[in-house]
Amino acid sequence: MSVIDVNVVEDHERFRAELASIRSDGRRRWIFARKPHGKLTNWRILVGIILIAFLLAAPFVKVRGHQFLLFNIIDREFVFFGIPFWPNDFYLVVVLFLTGIVSIVLLTASIGRIWCGWLCPQTVFMEMIFRRIEWGIHGGPAEQARRKAGPWSSDRVWRTVVTIVIFFSISFMIANAFLAYVVSSDRLTQFMQDGPLPHLELFIGLVFFTLVFFMVFYRFREQACLIACPYGRYMSALVDENTIAVTYDHIRGEKRAKWDREDVTAQKSAHAIGGITVRADGKGSCIDCHQCVTVCPTGIDIRNGIQLECVNCTACIDACNSVMSKVGLPSGLIRYTSLQTVVNKGRGSFLTNRIKAYGIVWLLLVTVVTVLFANRQDLDIVILRQEGTTWVTSANGYMNIYRLQMINKSASRVAYALGVASPKGYSIKMLGMPNSIEPMQILKGRFVIRRSSMVPGASQEPLVIAVSYGDDQQLITTSFLAP
Ligand code: SF4
Ligand code: SF4
Repeated sequence: MSVIDVNVVEDHERFRAELASIRSDGRRRWIFARKPHGKLTNWRILVGIILIAFLLAAPFVKVRGHQFLLFNIIDREFVFFGIPFWPNDFYLVVVLFLTGIVSIVLLTASIGRIWCGWLCPQTVFMEMIFRRIEWGIHGGPAEQARRKAGPWSSDRVWRTVVTIVIFFSISFMIANAFLAYVVSSDRLTQFMQDGPLPHLELFIGLVFFTLVFFMVFYRFREQACLIACPYGRYMSALVDENTIAVTYDHIRGEKRAKWDREDVTAQKSAHAIGGITVRADGKGSCIDCHQCVTVCPTGIDIRNGIQLECVNCTACIDACNSVMSKVGLPSGLIRYTSLQTVVNKGRGSFLTNRIKAYGIVWLLLVTVVTVLFANRQDLDIVILRQEGTTWVTSANGYMNIYRLQMINKSASRVAYALGVASPKGYSIKMLGMPNSIEPMQILKGRFVIRRSSMVPGASQEPLVIAVSYGDDQQLITTSFLAP
């Protein structure tokens, strides 16, 4: 026998060696979750409705002519909250990306996987739409399991066909919304008007993503959170005993024992005096009813402690609270709290030095992002001396040639004018450039600056060029050369 015999796993320790949704022989164990009910579930439904409405509507909302959110990787066009980003805004994207990462780290380290349970589109669509449709068509978990294990009767066939048709239609709708984020809602609308043939590559993309979404929600399901999602993997490195998460109060709950006649008597006498039930013989509050397990969409038992599979959906909190209220025990046996608080019987704080350090980094990044965005202009202007030139002497004095590049990041045409703000005595002549820039376009060209004479003794004079557009003005510093 080896020192650690992996073949011998005690039953109550099995969760350490196996995933709840995968059998020991590697085959999938299908999760038939029960429908949760309760206060937190109601809040999650409300949040889910708002999120789904946002996800489906956001690509069709325009802010100052820009799509609210656009991630066009193909044409390298990105719009976040109505603000367009160009390749020369890459530093902003990097800072934003870093801020996003630190926000998730701070959030996870302090309040656990709140993202997974409440905000992640995978969980929201799965639990708020697809699983509810399944409950509607196939009934509760017992009925679903019985039908799945049974023969392909006409009853099973029609229910399966209806499920597939509905799942596929919703997946098609999600794929359309997804495409609107990638190729823009305007192109998608055009695509719908023209039909698939003139936009064959888009149509292939649409079919591909419909199939991906369909397979994820029809077959892959919780495996996306357990196996595919990178966040779920690195979450274990971020949480510790001070992290607030969905936690089973083992101090209060153990020693777990089934609800029996003795408990019924205790419950009745407690009820008579309007108090709470006190279980006899050192029994804990957990009545080992498994309601928290049967409601779990990832099939785990939260009583085994914080596990990677737990997406913090809170379904087990509602399930257990409902049981507690029925038997007359205080609610909150499973609740949002930290392991440290449970062990210290109510004393504990998530505000550890680690969280404070993350918080400081996060605040710094948010400040940098705010300053960068506050100073961001609609017109990006670069003025450089024409390479390889110094000065030109003419009958009217001296001339320098400059290159001008302007990026119009706004959704409207911008008229502009150039002038030398200081010192006096200079004039500008544009070399065949238009005096306006089309929206979301780059304008490149040349201009010359003239001066009849130089300051005596100076071969280089600093210049400030004013670029005026609308009510705004930008001042660009450069220099003028002369013999
Ligand atoms: S629902 Fe509550 S009482 Fe029932 S098994 Fe789970 S923790 Fe114990
Ligand atoms: S253990 Fe509870 S919170 Fe975690 S996934 Fe299961 S039901 Fe949701």
